[in-house]
Amino acid sequence: MAPHGGLPAKCSLCHKAAPGYDRLPERWWLFVPVWGVATSFRYAPRRVECPQDGVVEEEIPWSQGKRPVTVAMMGFLSRWARRLSWRETARAFDTSWECVYRSVDWYVQWGLAHRKLEGVKSIGVDDLHWGQSKGANSFLTVIYQIDTHCRRLLWVGKKRTQATLRRGLAALGSEVVGGLRFVCSDMWRPYLNVIAAKASQALHVLDRFHITMHLNQAVDQVRRAESTRLRGHPMAERLKKMRWKLLRKGSRVRGRAKHKLCGLLYAKLGTGRAWMLKETFQDFWRYRSLFWAKAFLDVWTTRALRSRLEPMQKVARMLRSHEKLILNWFKAKGEISNAAVEGLNNKIRVVTRRSYGFRTYDAMEIALYHTLGKLPEPDEFTHTFC
Ligand SMILES: [Zn+2]
Repeated sequence: MAPHGGLPAKCSLCHKAAPGYDRLPERWWLFVPVWGVATSFRYAPRRVECPQDGVVEEEIPWSQGKRPVTVAMMGFLSRWARRLSWRETARAFDTSWECVYRSVDWYVQWGLAHRKLEGVKSIGVDDLHWGQSKGANSFLTVIYQIDTHCRRLLWVGKKRTQATLRRGLAALGSEVVGGLRFVCSDMWRPYLNVIAAKASQALHVLDRFHITMHLNQAVDQVRRAESTRLRGHPMAERLKKMRWKLLRKGSRVRGRAKHKLCGLLYAKLGTGRAWMLKETFQDFWRYRSLFWAKAFLDVWTTRALRSRLEPMQKVARMLRSHEKLILNWFKAKGEISNAAVEGLNNKIRVVTRRSYGFRTYDAMEIALYHTLGKLPEPDEFTHTFC
Protein backbone atom coordinates (compact mmCIF):
# COMPACT_ATOMS: atom_id res chain seq x y z
CA MET A 1 0.00 0.00 0.00
CA ALA A 2 1.15 3.51 -0.72
CA PRO A 3 0.03 6.74 0.95
CA HIS A 4 -2.56 8.76 -0.96
CA GLY A 5 -0.80 11.61 -2.72
CA GLY A 6 -3.63 14.09 -2.20
CA LEU A 7 -4.43 13.41 1.44
CA PRO A 8 -2.10 14.74 4.11
CA ALA A 9 -1.03 12.42 6.92
CA LYS A 10 -2.69 12.91 10.31
CA CYS A 11 -1.14 12.99 13.75
CA SER A 12 -2.07 9.82 15.68
CA LEU A 13 -2.51 11.76 18.93
CA CYS A 14 -4.63 14.78 17.97
CA HIS A 15 -6.01 13.43 14.66
CA LYS A 16 -5.21 16.68 12.83
CA ALA A 17 -3.39 16.92 9.52
CA ALA A 18 0.31 17.56 9.95
CA PRO A 19 3.32 17.95 7.65
CA GLY A 20 5.33 14.81 6.92
CA TYR A 21 8.65 14.14 8.61
CA ASP A 22 10.05 10.79 7.47
CA ARG A 23 9.02 7.18 6.88
CA LEU A 24 9.38 4.17 9.13
CA PRO A 25 10.42 0.75 7.86
CA GLU A 26 7.72 -1.34 6.21
CA ARG A 27 5.41 -3.38 8.44
CA TRP A 28 2.96 -6.23 7.76
CA TRP A 29 -0.65 -6.43 8.91
CA LEU A 30 -2.76 -9.54 8.70
CA PHE A 31 -6.02 -8.83 6.88
CA VAL A 32 -9.24 -10.88 6.53
CA PRO A 33 -8.59 -13.77 4.14
CA VAL A 34 -9.96 -13.03 0.69
CA TRP A 35 -11.48 -16.04 -1.12
CA GLY A 36 -9.72 -18.27 1.37
CA VAL A 37 -6.32 -16.78 0.59
CA ALA A 38 -4.36 -15.33 3.51
CA THR A 39 -4.04 -11.61 2.90
CA SER A 40 -1.74 -9.00 4.40
CA PHE A 41 -1.20 -5.29 4.11
CA ARG A 42 2.36 -4.05 3.64
CA TYR A 43 2.94 -0.44 4.39
CA ALA A 44 5.70 1.89 5.54
CA PRO A 45 4.03 4.29 7.99
CA ARG A 46 4.95 7.95 7.79
CA ARG A 47 5.96 10.06 10.73
CA VAL A 48 4.56 13.56 10.98
CA GLU A 49 5.78 16.67 12.68
CA CYS A 50 2.78 17.86 14.60
CA PRO A 51 2.96 21.44 15.88
CA GLN A 52 1.38 20.23 19.11
CA ASP A 53 2.74 16.72 19.72
CA GLY A 54 6.11 16.80 17.95
CA VAL A 55 7.34 13.97 15.73
CA VAL A 56 4.90 11.06 15.97
CA GLU A 57 3.65 8.20 13.83
CA GLU A 58 0.75 9.01 11.51
CA GLU A 59 -2.75 7.80 12.20
CA ILE A 60 -3.57 4.54 10.43
CA PRO A 61 -7.34 3.89 10.52
CA TRP A 62 -7.07 0.12 10.04
CA SER A 63 -4.40 -0.42 12.65
CA GLN A 64 -4.31 -0.31 16.45
CA GLY A 65 -0.94 0.62 17.93
CA LYS A 66 1.77 -1.94 17.34
CA ARG A 67 -0.57 -4.82 16.56
CA PRO A 68 0.37 -6.80 13.46
CA VAL A 69 -3.32 -7.46 12.69
CA THR A 70 -5.74 -5.05 11.04
CA VAL A 71 -8.79 -3.88 12.95
CA ALA A 72 -11.02 -5.66 10.42
CA MET A 73 -9.23 -8.96 11.05
CA MET A 74 -9.50 -8.54 14.82
CA GLY A 75 -13.25 -8.11 14.46
CA PHE A 76 -13.44 -11.07 12.11
CA LEU A 77 -11.50 -13.40 14.44
CA SER A 78 -13.47 -12.22 17.48
CA ARG A 79 -16.79 -13.05 15.88
CA TRP A 80 -15.63 -16.49 14.95
CA ALA A 81 -14.14 -17.02 18.41
CA ARG A 82 -17.66 -16.84 19.80
CA ARG A 83 -18.76 -19.81 17.71
CA LEU A 84 -15.60 -21.91 17.75
CA SER A 85 -13.00 -22.41 20.43
CA TRP A 86 -10.03 -20.09 20.17
CA ARG A 87 -7.80 -22.91 19.05
CA GLU A 88 -10.22 -23.92 16.32
CA THR A 89 -10.51 -20.32 15.18
CA ALA A 90 -6.75 -20.03 14.95
CA ARG A 91 -6.52 -23.23 12.95
CA ALA A 92 -9.39 -22.36 10.60
CA PHE A 93 -7.89 -19.01 9.63
CA ASP A 94 -4.30 -20.07 9.68
CA THR A 95 -3.14 -17.90 12.54
CA SER A 96 -1.95 -18.41 16.11
CA TRP A 97 -3.83 -18.82 19.38
CA GLU A 98 -2.15 -15.66 20.67
CA CYS A 99 -3.40 -13.73 17.68
CA VAL A 100 -6.98 -14.82 18.40
CA TYR A 101 -6.53 -14.03 22.10
CA ARG A 102 -5.23 -10.53 21.41
CA SER A 103 -8.01 -9.87 18.92
CA VAL A 104 -10.75 -10.94 21.31
CA ASP A 105 -9.07 -8.98 24.09
CA TRP A 106 -9.10 -5.81 22.01
CA TYR A 107 -12.72 -6.39 21.03
CA VAL A 108 -13.79 -7.00 24.65
CA GLN A 109 -11.91 -3.98 25.99
CA TRP A 110 -13.60 -1.85 23.36
CA GLY A 111 -16.98 -3.29 24.32
CA LEU A 112 -16.43 -2.80 28.05
CA ALA A 113 -15.40 0.80 27.48
CA HIS A 114 -18.49 1.50 25.38
CA ARG A 115 -21.21 -0.54 27.09
CA LYS A 116 -24.16 1.21 28.68
CA LEU A 117 -25.01 0.35 32.26
CA GLU A 118 -28.09 2.53 32.58
CA GLY A 119 -31.29 0.78 33.46
CA VAL A 120 -29.71 -2.05 35.47
CA LYS A 121 -32.38 -2.68 38.10
CA SER A 122 -31.69 -6.21 39.27
CA ILE A 123 -28.50 -8.14 39.66
CA GLY A 124 -27.71 -11.70 40.62
CA VAL A 125 -24.52 -12.48 42.51
CA ASP A 126 -23.10 -15.96 42.58
CA ASP A 127 -19.93 -17.96 43.05
CA LEU A 128 -18.80 -20.66 40.69
CA HIS A 129 -16.19 -23.31 41.00
CA TRP A 130 -13.56 -23.18 38.33
CA GLY A 131 -10.48 -25.26 37.67
CA GLN A 132 -9.26 -28.42 39.31
CA SER A 133 -8.33 -27.58 42.88
CA LYS A 134 -10.54 -26.80 45.86
CA GLY A 135 -8.56 -23.75 46.93
CA ALA A 136 -9.88 -20.22 47.26
CA ASN A 137 -8.36 -19.32 43.91
CA SER A 138 -10.50 -21.73 41.99
CA PHE A 139 -13.71 -19.85 42.67
CA LEU A 140 -15.16 -17.04 40.63
CA THR A 141 -17.54 -14.36 41.74
CA VAL A 142 -19.94 -13.31 39.03
CA ILE A 143 -22.40 -10.44 38.83
CA TYR A 144 -25.22 -10.78 36.32
CA GLN A 145 -27.89 -8.39 35.22
CA ILE A 146 -31.14 -10.34 35.57
CA ASP A 147 -33.74 -7.81 34.46
CA THR A 148 -36.46 -9.40 32.38
CA HIS A 149 -35.48 -7.28 29.38
CA CYS A 150 -31.76 -7.91 29.61
CA ARG A 151 -29.75 -10.76 31.08
CA ARG A 152 -26.01 -10.58 30.78
CA LEU A 153 -22.75 -10.95 32.60
CA LEU A 154 -21.71 -7.65 34.14
CA TRP A 155 -18.61 -8.59 36.04
CA VAL A 156 -16.41 -11.56 36.90
CA GLY A 157 -13.53 -11.77 39.40
CA LYS A 158 -11.31 -14.26 41.16
CA LYS A 159 -12.20 -15.75 44.58
CA ARG A 160 -15.45 -15.38 46.51
CA THR A 161 -14.62 -13.10 49.39
CA GLN A 162 -16.07 -9.83 50.61
CA ALA A 163 -13.18 -8.06 48.91
CA THR A 164 -14.04 -9.68 45.58
CA LEU A 165 -17.64 -8.57 45.63
CA ARG A 166 -16.67 -5.10 46.80
CA ARG A 167 -14.28 -4.89 43.87
CA GLY A 168 -17.05 -5.97 41.50
CA LEU A 169 -19.57 -3.45 42.79
CA ALA A 170 -16.94 -0.73 42.61
CA ALA A 171 -16.27 -1.67 38.98
CA LEU A 172 -19.95 -1.18 38.17
CA GLY A 173 -19.82 2.28 39.69
CA SER A 174 -21.75 3.90 42.51
CA GLU A 175 -24.42 5.15 40.12
CA VAL A 176 -25.35 1.63 39.04
CA VAL A 177 -25.18 0.21 42.58
CA GLY A 178 -27.23 3.11 43.92
CA GLY A 179 -29.94 2.50 41.32
CA LEU A 180 -30.42 -1.19 42.05
CA ARG A 181 -33.84 -2.39 43.13
CA PHE A 182 -33.21 -6.11 43.54
CA VAL A 183 -30.19 -8.16 44.43
CA CYS A 184 -30.43 -11.90 44.19
CA SER A 185 -27.89 -14.19 45.83
CA ASP A 186 -27.16 -17.33 47.80
CA MET A 187 -26.85 -17.48 51.59
CA TRP A 188 -23.12 -17.02 51.36
CA ARG A 189 -22.11 -14.93 54.34
CA PRO A 190 -19.45 -12.68 52.71
CA TYR A 191 -21.93 -11.71 49.99
CA LEU A 192 -24.75 -11.04 52.45
CA ASN A 193 -22.52 -8.65 54.37
CA VAL A 194 -21.32 -6.71 51.36
CA ILE A 195 -24.79 -6.43 49.81
CA ALA A 196 -26.22 -5.17 53.10
CA ALA A 197 -23.49 -2.56 53.31
CA LYS A 198 -23.25 -1.40 49.71
CA ALA A 199 -26.74 -1.78 48.26
CA SER A 200 -28.94 -1.30 51.30
CA GLN A 201 -31.70 0.39 49.28
CA ALA A 202 -32.18 -2.71 47.12
CA LEU A 203 -34.42 -5.58 48.13
CA HIS A 204 -32.19 -8.54 48.82
CA VAL A 205 -33.73 -11.79 47.63
CA LEU A 206 -32.46 -15.27 48.30
CA ASP A 207 -32.61 -17.11 45.08
CA ARG A 208 -35.06 -19.97 44.65
CA PHE A 209 -32.51 -21.91 42.65
CA HIS A 210 -29.97 -21.79 45.46
CA ILE A 211 -32.44 -22.94 48.08
CA THR A 212 -33.45 -25.89 45.90
CA MET A 213 -29.76 -26.67 45.52
CA HIS A 214 -29.25 -26.75 49.30
CA LEU A 215 -32.24 -29.06 49.69
CA ASN A 216 -30.93 -31.39 47.01
CA GLN A 217 -27.52 -31.52 48.63
CA ALA A 218 -29.12 -32.41 51.96
CA VAL A 219 -31.13 -35.26 50.39
CA ASP A 220 -27.96 -36.55 48.81
CA GLN A 221 -26.10 -36.46 52.12
CA VAL A 222 -28.87 -38.41 53.82
CA ARG A 223 -28.82 -41.00 51.06
CA ARG A 224 -25.05 -41.44 51.19
CA ALA A 225 -24.97 -41.77 54.97
CA GLU A 226 -27.82 -44.25 54.90
CA SER A 227 -26.37 -46.46 52.21
CA THR A 228 -23.10 -46.61 54.13
CA ARG A 229 -24.97 -47.57 57.28
CA LEU A 230 -27.04 -50.25 55.52
CA ARG A 231 -24.19 -51.88 53.64
CA GLY A 232 -24.86 -55.60 53.28
CA HIS A 233 -28.45 -55.25 54.52
CA PRO A 234 -31.24 -56.17 52.02
CA MET A 235 -32.68 -52.66 52.44
CA ALA A 236 -29.55 -51.21 50.85
CA GLU A 237 -30.79 -52.55 47.49
CA ARG A 238 -33.52 -49.92 47.51
CA LEU A 239 -30.97 -47.10 47.61
CA LYS A 240 -28.90 -48.30 44.71
CA LYS A 241 -28.77 -46.12 41.61
CA MET A 242 -31.24 -43.71 43.16
CA ARG A 243 -29.07 -40.62 43.24
CA TRP A 244 -30.41 -38.77 40.18
CA LYS A 245 -33.96 -39.96 40.66
CA LEU A 246 -33.98 -38.41 44.12
CA LEU A 247 -32.61 -35.11 42.90
CA ARG A 248 -35.11 -34.65 40.12
CA LYS A 249 -38.38 -32.90 40.63
CA GLY A 250 -40.85 -35.56 41.82
CA SER A 251 -43.34 -34.78 39.06
CA ARG A 252 -40.67 -35.53 36.47
CA VAL A 253 -39.88 -39.01 37.76
CA ARG A 254 -41.94 -41.53 35.78
CA GLY A 255 -42.25 -45.20 34.93
CA ARG A 256 -40.06 -47.75 36.65
CA ALA A 257 -38.12 -45.02 38.44
CA LYS A 258 -41.35 -43.80 40.01
CA HIS A 259 -42.14 -47.32 41.12
CA LYS A 260 -38.75 -47.59 42.79
CA LEU A 261 -39.21 -44.24 44.46
CA CYS A 262 -42.55 -45.34 45.89
CA GLY A 263 -40.89 -48.47 47.22
CA LEU A 264 -38.33 -46.31 48.95
CA LEU A 265 -41.01 -44.20 50.61
CA TYR A 266 -42.92 -47.31 51.66
CA ALA A 267 -39.79 -48.76 53.27
CA LYS A 268 -39.73 -45.81 55.69
CA LEU A 269 -36.07 -45.12 55.10
CA GLY A 270 -34.55 -41.80 56.12
CA THR A 271 -33.78 -41.08 52.50
CA GLY A 272 -37.46 -41.36 51.66
CA ARG A 273 -38.39 -38.92 54.41
CA ALA A 274 -35.72 -36.48 53.29
CA TRP A 275 -37.03 -36.70 49.76
CA MET A 276 -40.60 -36.02 50.93
CA LEU A 277 -39.42 -32.92 52.79
CA LYS A 278 -37.62 -31.65 49.73
CA GLU A 279 -40.65 -32.25 47.54
CA THR A 280 -43.15 -30.58 49.85
CA PHE A 281 -40.97 -27.49 49.97
CA GLN A 282 -41.79 -26.88 46.31
CA ASP A 283 -45.25 -25.76 47.41
CA PHE A 284 -43.67 -22.84 49.20
CA TRP A 285 -42.98 -21.06 45.93
CA ARG A 286 -46.61 -21.23 44.84
CA TYR A 287 -47.92 -18.98 47.58
CA ARG A 288 -49.21 -15.55 46.66
CA SER A 289 -49.62 -14.14 50.13
CA LEU A 290 -46.65 -13.35 52.29
CA PHE A 291 -48.57 -14.32 55.40
CA TRP A 292 -49.31 -17.87 54.28
CA ALA A 293 -45.85 -18.31 52.83
CA LYS A 294 -44.41 -17.45 56.23
CA ALA A 295 -46.81 -19.86 57.93
CA PHE A 296 -45.77 -22.61 55.53
CA LEU A 297 -42.11 -21.93 56.21
CA ASP A 298 -42.72 -22.23 59.97
CA VAL A 299 -44.53 -25.55 59.61
CA TRP A 300 -42.00 -26.95 57.16
CA THR A 301 -38.95 -26.03 59.23
CA THR A 302 -40.59 -27.47 62.37
CA ARG A 303 -41.15 -30.76 60.57
CA ALA A 304 -37.62 -30.78 59.23
CA LEU A 305 -36.15 -30.05 62.65
CA ARG A 306 -38.06 -33.01 64.10
CA SER A 307 -37.02 -35.33 61.28
CA ARG A 308 -33.88 -36.65 63.02
CA LEU A 309 -32.06 -36.17 59.71
CA GLU A 310 -29.09 -33.98 60.41
CA PRO A 311 -28.63 -32.52 56.87
CA MET A 312 -32.34 -31.59 56.67
CA GLN A 313 -32.19 -30.00 60.11
CA LYS A 314 -29.25 -27.97 58.95
CA VAL A 315 -31.19 -26.65 55.96
CA ALA A 316 -34.16 -25.84 58.21
CA ARG A 317 -31.96 -23.84 60.58
CA MET A 318 -30.43 -22.01 57.66
CA LEU A 319 -33.85 -21.15 56.24
CA ARG A 320 -35.05 -19.94 59.62
CA SER A 321 -32.10 -17.65 60.14
CA HIS A 322 -32.57 -16.11 56.68
CA GLU A 323 -36.36 -16.05 56.78
CA LYS A 324 -36.65 -12.36 56.00
CA LEU A 325 -34.52 -12.56 52.87
CA ILE A 326 -36.31 -15.69 51.66
CA LEU A 327 -39.71 -14.03 52.05
CA ASN A 328 -38.42 -11.10 50.01
CA TRP A 329 -38.82 -13.46 47.07
CA PHE A 330 -42.57 -12.87 47.23
CA LYS A 331 -42.12 -9.13 47.18
CA ALA A 332 -39.95 -9.36 44.08
CA LYS A 333 -42.20 -11.86 42.32
CA GLY A 334 -42.59 -11.07 38.64
CA GLU A 335 -39.88 -8.42 38.74
CA ILE A 336 -36.91 -10.70 38.37
CA SER A 337 -36.69 -13.86 36.36
CA ASN A 338 -35.97 -16.59 38.84
CA ALA A 339 -34.16 -18.96 36.51
CA ALA A 340 -31.83 -16.27 35.17
CA VAL A 341 -28.92 -16.94 37.52
CA GLU A 342 -29.14 -20.67 36.96
CA GLY A 343 -29.31 -20.25 33.19
CA LEU A 344 -26.33 -17.91 33.06
CA ASN A 345 -24.35 -20.23 35.34
CA ASN A 346 -24.93 -23.07 32.91
CA LYS A 347 -23.71 -20.94 30.03
CA ILE A 348 -20.59 -20.02 31.99
CA ARG A 349 -19.89 -23.71 32.55
CA VAL A 350 -19.99 -24.32 28.82
CA VAL A 351 -17.37 -21.61 28.29
CA THR A 352 -15.11 -22.69 31.13
CA ARG A 353 -15.28 -26.28 29.94
CA ARG A 354 -14.18 -25.10 26.54
CA SER A 355 -11.50 -23.41 28.61
CA TYR A 356 -9.15 -26.31 28.22
CA GLY A 357 -7.70 -23.98 25.62
CA PHE A 358 -7.52 -20.99 27.95
CA ARG A 359 -4.01 -20.99 29.28
CA THR A 360 -4.55 -18.29 31.87
CA TYR A 361 -7.29 -16.97 34.09
CA ASP A 362 -7.19 -13.67 32.19
CA ALA A 363 -7.90 -15.41 28.90
CA MET A 364 -10.92 -17.16 30.41
CA GLU A 365 -12.21 -13.92 31.88
CA ILE A 366 -12.00 -12.29 28.45
CA ALA A 367 -13.86 -15.23 26.92
CA LEU A 368 -16.66 -14.92 29.49
CA TYR A 369 -17.22 -11.25 28.76
CA HIS A 370 -16.99 -12.03 25.08
CA THR A 371 -19.70 -14.70 25.06
CA LEU A 372 -22.02 -13.55 27.86
CA GLY A 373 -21.47 -9.82 28.28
CA LYS A 374 -23.67 -8.73 25.35
CA LEU A 375 -21.04 -6.09 24.67
CA PRO A 376 -21.52 -3.52 21.95
CA GLU A 377 -19.40 -4.09 18.86
CA PRO A 378 -17.32 -1.54 17.02
CA ASP A 379 -19.05 -0.33 13.84
CA GLU A 380 -18.25 -2.10 10.63
CA PHE A 381 -14.74 -1.20 9.66
CA THR A 382 -15.27 0.91 6.61
CA HIS A 383 -12.32 3.14 6.07
CA THR A 384 -10.81 4.93 3.17
CA PHE A 385 -7.49 3.23 2.86
CA CYS A 386 -4.56 5.53 2.17
ZN1 LIG B 1 -0.88 16.06 17.13
